[in-house]
Amino acid sequence: MTLVLFDIDGTLVDAHGLGRRTIESALGEVAGRPVPSARVPFAGRTDPAIAAEMLRQAGFSGERHAEMLSRGLAHYTALMMAHDGPVDLLPGVESVLNRLEASDGVALGLLTGNLEVTAYAKLRMAGIARFFGFGAFGSDNPDRYGLPEVALGRARSVLGAHVDPASCVVVGDTIHDVGCGRGAGMRTVAVCTGPVPREDLVAAGADLLLEDLADAQPLYRFLNL
Ligand SMILES: [Mg+2]
Repeated sequence: MTLVLFDIDGTLVDAHGLGRRTIESALGEVAGRPVPSARVPFAGRTDPAIAAEMLRQAGFSGERHAEMLSRGLAHYTALMMAHDGPVDLLPGVESVLNRLEASDGVALGLLTGNLEVTAYAKLRMAGIARFFGFGAFGSDNPDRYGLPEVALGRARSVLGAHVDPASCVVVGDTIHDVGCGRGAGMRTVAVCTGPVPREDLVAAGADLLLEDLADAQPLYRFLNL
C-alpha cells in the first residue's frame, strides 16, 4: 500500500492569502492592537508556529504570549469557519485525486501546517474535502518536522495496517514539505505551484519535481500506477 500525503496551500489549493489575512485579523482582535504578519514567513510552516512568531514580533512574551496564542488560534478557527472562500483548486488536482482514490493499493491523507478544523474548511471551500479521511495537522504539532510521525500513527489506526515510511509519499510545494518527508524516510514530490522557486525545491532533494499536478503522468509512473 502506498500512502500519499498531500500538503494543502500551494499544492492542492490557492486560497489567495485567506489564511494570512484571517490570522492577522484574529490575532489583532484578541490582542486589541495590530499584529502584523509581513515579516513572518508562512510557506511550509504550521499555523501555530506562524501565530506564535507574529505574537513574539508584536512584543508578547511569557504567559501573555501563551494566552494570546491560544485565544488567537480559537478566534482564527471561528473566523475561518465563517468564510466561504474563494479557495480555488490548483490545476489538475481533482483529476489526480480521483485517479488516486480509484487506484488499488493507494490511500490518501493530509500532511499540512493548517489546524485540522481550518484544513477541512479550506478543502470544503475548494470542494475536495471528501477525498481525505485523515491526516496530520499543525494542531497536532507546531513543528512540521514532527508531522510525518503523526500521519503514520493516524494511518495505522484509520487504515488498520502498519504503514512503513518508505511506502509513503509526501506531496508539497515548499522545502519544508520535502525536508520533513525526507527526514522521516518518506519519498517526496514537489510541485511548483506555491511561492517557492523551482531551484530551491530541487536543492531540497525532492525525488520528483512537477510544474503542477496537471503534469500528472510522471507522478503516476513514480507511484507505479
Ligand atoms: Mg504549502
